[in-house]
Parts: sequence; C-alpha cells; structure tokens
Amino acid sequence: MSEKTIKLYDENAYSTEFTAKVVSCEKVEDKEGLFKVVLDRTLFFPEEGGQTPDKGIIIPFSDEESASFEEHGTIPESVSAGKGAAIEVQDVQIKNDVIFHFVTSELKAHSVVFGRIDFGHRFSNMQQHSGEHIFSGIVNSKFGYDNVGFHLSDSIVTMDYSGQLSPEEISDIELSVNQAIYENREIRAFYPSPEELSDIDYRSKKELIGAVRIVEVDGYDVCACCAPHVKRTGEIGILKVVSFQNYKGGTRVSILCGKRALEFLSGEHSMIQELAGELSTSGDNIPTIVHKQQEEIASLKRSLSEAGEKLLNIEADKLPEGVKNVCLFADKDSDPNVIRRVVNRLVSERAGFCGIFFGNEADGFRFIIGSGDGLNSNDIIAELKKSFNVRGGGKPAMVQGSIEGASEEAIREVFNMVS
Ligand SMILES: [Zn+2]
Repeated sequence: MSEKTIKLYDENAYSTEFTAKVVSCEKVEDKEGLFKVVLDRTLFFPEEGGQTPDKGIIIPFSDEESASFEEHGTIPESVSAGKGAAIEVQDVQIKNDVIFHFVTSELKAHSVVFGRIDFGHRFSNMQQHSGEHIFSGIVNSKFGYDNVGFHLSDSIVTMDYSGQLSPEEISDIELSVNQAIYENREIRAFYPSPEELSDIDYRSKKELIGAVRIVEVDGYDVCACCAPHVKRTGEIGILKVVSFQNYKGGTRVSILCGKRALEFLSGEHSMIQELAGELSTSGDNIPTIVHKQQEEIASLKRSLSEAGEKLLNIEADKLPEGVKNVCLFADKDSDPNVIRRVVNRLVSERAGFCGIFFGNEADGFRFIIGSGDGLNSNDIIAELKKSFNVRGGGKPAMVQGSIEGASEEAIREVFNMVS
C-alpha cells in the first residue's frame, strides 16, 4: 500500500504549479492506454465529497532532468518555457488518502514531474463550494435543517436539505448569503487537535475518522470539509439560486456562484431581450403580453373548433343515404371532442360503422369509429390491421386509435367492404 499523498492544496488553495516524484504508475486494467499515477504530493484535488476533480496537466522530466532537479532543484528550461510535453490529467481519485492521477502516458517511477492545475476551473469550484457552505450554514442556524446531499459538477451545485423551505425562505437565505459576500468575511481551513475539535460545534454529513479539517466562515458557518475554499467571502462574487424543489420530504436547491452565476444571468437576460424584441415590448411587459396571447390562442382554438364542427356536420349531411358504413376525413388539428360528437350523431342516424379520420396520409391519421346495436367497432380495426399499421381499440360502441401508411382511398375501401 502506498503512503498517504501529501495534499498540497490543503496548504494553499491558490497554488497552481508544483513538482513531485512519481511513486508508482500502473496500467488501468480494463481501460486501454490509461495509467494511474501516484505522486508523493499533489495540487490536484480528487473527486471527493460530491465535488468533481481538478483539471490540469503533468509534464514528465527526463532522467537527466530528474537527476538535475534532485541535485540542484532546477526546473528544466523546456518546462519553465511551457514547451514540455504536457500530459492531460483525465481524472483524479482518492482512496485511503492515496491520490491517483489518471493519464494516457506511462510515467517512470521515481522520476520527477511538474504539474499545473487549471486554476480557472479550480477557482470556480472554490467559489461554488464556499458559497454552498454559507448557504448551508444559514439553513442550519435559521431552520435547523441538515445538508444531507451535495453535488458540485462543472455546471451546477445541488444541495439537499432535511426539511422543507418555502420560496420566500429560500429567497431570504439567498439575500443573507449575498450579504455575507459583501461583508468579505474570512474563510479559514485548519486541522484542530482532537481536544480542540471536541470544543468546536461544527456541521458534518458523516462520522469522520482521522484528522478532521474544519472550514470556518467567520460569523456564518463551521463545517468539516476536505475541499479548497476561497480566503474571503467577497471572492465568491455572487450566489444565485437557480432552482429548488421538494425532494424526499426535504428541499433540493441548485445554486451558482461567481462567474457561473454571471454567465447564467447573462444567458437569461439575453433570452428576455430576445423575447422582448420578438414581442415588441420591454422585458417587464413580457408576462402580461404572453398571458394575453395565451387567452387569444385559447379563444381562437374555440372558434376553430366550432367552425370545424360546423364543417364536419355539413359533410355528414351530404353523406349518401343507403350506404351502410360511412367515413369522413378531417383536419389534423381537429378537436377530438368535436370528432366524438359528430361520430355520435352519425351513429344515431345510421345502422353501420361510422368513422372519422383526422390527420393526413403523410403523417397518419387518428380516428374515432362508432357503431350501433349488434356491431363491434373493434371488427373494423381488425380489418384495417390486415393492411396497415394500426393502434387502438375500445368498447364495441366506440373505438379510437391511430393508423399509419393508409390513404383516404384505402380506408374508404375497407369501410365499403366490411359488413
Ligand atoms: Zn465542503
């Protein structure tokens, strides 16, 4: 078993570059061309505690460069000039305090490497995670609810709380978190001694073993946490709640902080601007105009449905007497309630099968077919099924369904044939 990896990110969350010695490099068994590398120390934060791992690169030193580094501490010129052959770190995992870097090149054990993390990605994660601590700290102190789930992906931060929060309460918490951001409070991460720890009242999701790292947001939160955080709350920039829902008897809240929040709000703003342009109004007028348009659409639909019913009834009037089965064709967007009423009317006037098909030959038709005493409307579905792709059924008096691949002509033929 390897020794514990020294977590350089614990000492300074803002460091971006480091050198380390390769402790081991092994092929990943079921992944062709992938190796897992253990370094004696690293700045790469692994996937841990619901947070995705750091991104970045590793540049291996040649034997000569490694020897020279060990002797004089010199970084090869190619590396400092950014010309070394960089290997992208695909994933970072931790097990029993040993950190594994997944890379696509084999690295020599005992050689030296240079590493650089993607600080844009790291800093964003620090902003999100620190924002989450303040939010959860306020939820805990104000409402007594625990954070029972946490996920920090590259696109969203999701927290699950053990109790229900109303929209007003969430909005208040959001305001308080942003107040904490304006106050630019200190955030401190430290490993207290067991005696010190026993005197600290801190939040924790699970029973912790080994050294407990405490992250304290001055005046807002104390929580056990292994992740890098910003030094002062002002660096979080902004916290925005983007969604929330009832979840397993509690509340699931999604937030964004910093640049991610700005990008989200800019996206929403552009969308509003675009809609406002489309509707020739100002952004704050959009809800009123959309509501009015919805009412107009509903009213137009009613008129269209009434006109459609009139038209179908006129066609029904024109159907020849003396023909046993009849079928009519209507527009794709016909109101099924109208179709049902006209089918019922036809059934009351005629002895055979009466069907109305609405749709078109290209996309297929939906249908409602009715019949009077002694007939079973499912019989005509059975007949249609012989030649076409038909779905549907129902009681003998009335069936409904859909048919594909049939022309009006072909459907009429089946109606003429069935007795
Ligand atoms: Zn945390």
